[in-house]
Amino acid sequence: MTSENNAKGGFNTRAVHAGQAFEPRTGAVIPPVHFSTTYAQDGIGGLRDGYEYGRGTNPTRDALQEQLASLEGGKHAFSFSSGLAAEDSLIRALTRPGDHIVLGNDAYGGTYRLISRVLGEWGITNKPVDMADLDAVKAAVADGQTRILWVETPSNPMMKISDLAALAEIAHAAGALFVVDNTFATPYLQQPLSFGADIVVHSTTKYIGGHSDVVGGAVIVNDDELAEKIGFVQFAVGAVSGPMDAFLTTRGLKTLGVRMDRHSTNGQAVAEFLLQRPEVSHVLYPGLKDHPGHELAAKQMKSFGGVVSFRLKGGEAAARKFAESLRLFTLAESLGGIESLVNYPSEMTHASVKGTELAVPEDLLRLSVGIEDEQDLLADLKQAFGAL
Ligand SMILES: *Cc1c(COP(=O)(O)O)cnc(C)c1O
Repeated sequence: MTSENNAKGGFNTRAVHAGQAFEPRTGAVIPPVHFSTTYAQDGIGGLRDGYEYGRGTNPTRDALQEQLASLEGGKHAFSFSSGLAAEDSLIRALTRPGDHIVLGNDAYGGTYRLISRVLGEWGITNKPVDMADLDAVKAAVADGQTRILWVETPSNPMMKISDLAALAEIAHAAGALFVVDNTFATPYLQQPLSFGADIVVHSTTKYIGGHSDVVGGAVIVNDDELAEKIGFVQFAVGAVSGPMDAFLTTRGLKTLGVRMDRHSTNGQAVAEFLLQRPEVSHVLYPGLKDHPGHELAAKQMKSFGGVVSFRLKGGEAAARKFAESLRLFTLAESLGGIESLVNYPSEMTHASVKGTELAVPEDLLRLSVGIEDEQDLLADLKQAFGAL
């Protein structure tokens, strides 16, 4: 569904108002959630405002799509039932068997599984590359068959920062589309379309929904032709978000700016605390001055977000013990919610890439730092160090 941006103003104003005009009949400030799967026609083919059938269009989903397009600075947004459904639909819309995808060598495990094991069966080939090594990326996309260059920045869970403007140029010089998974940064912290990306993809399950209560995904583009292809697959395959999911995602997205400010402040405080601890060997957070991507991140991002990864000198045993000793941080997969979580990637979120080029270190923990009070978060980390 095409969504022209209608709300004006700054990011937070558009977050609250884009796609959210009050309901004209009653004046309900929050538009009703539209559950109807079908729409009455005024005579055969006489559609009201284009609405016909729920897989194709739904007013609650349209409102979310308008809000997403506005916030990413794109012309068209498409909402899906999950982040991976969004990725699958966009790849199927834009590739054919024999095409090649070059992706970051620390891509989200589920993205790699989709590209290598599902789309691989369908004839798509792939090559994971270190996106910080621009010469290696150039060499990888120069095969004449690369259709997509796919990057996450910051990446999950190693928090590597990639140069969006440089990668856009490399992709375009090779005739490839540049896709950015902007799940970690969110449009509040970073807007890849403004750096030359063709397509932005999100797991809205994370910061955009923001409350760990709805799974979803999104694709945002500027180009009309790309939009037509992706929109066709969204309609023809039907991996769309349901009305209640779309409503919850819209509700979360309205507060994205205030949440991200707090996630970033708390993330910075946690990273600086971990840096002081003798038990820790590495802290991976782009807000730290000695992070190799710090300057680039400061250029591309408004602040550095709430995900902090770190490695323990005591190895796998220490990482497991620490994760299981935290109390305020819940041991769980996922990230981006208001509550703090701890994840042991090598056995949890990234178990599917064990033994591949994308495997993650066994002494690594990833924190999703929530919006609780800083002193309570630091106290919990401190007591978990005490348990080592
Ligand atoms: C979670 C995640 C996905 C997958 O999204 P789902 O909503 O779980 O399908 C993709 N990319 C990144 C960076 C993620 O964190």
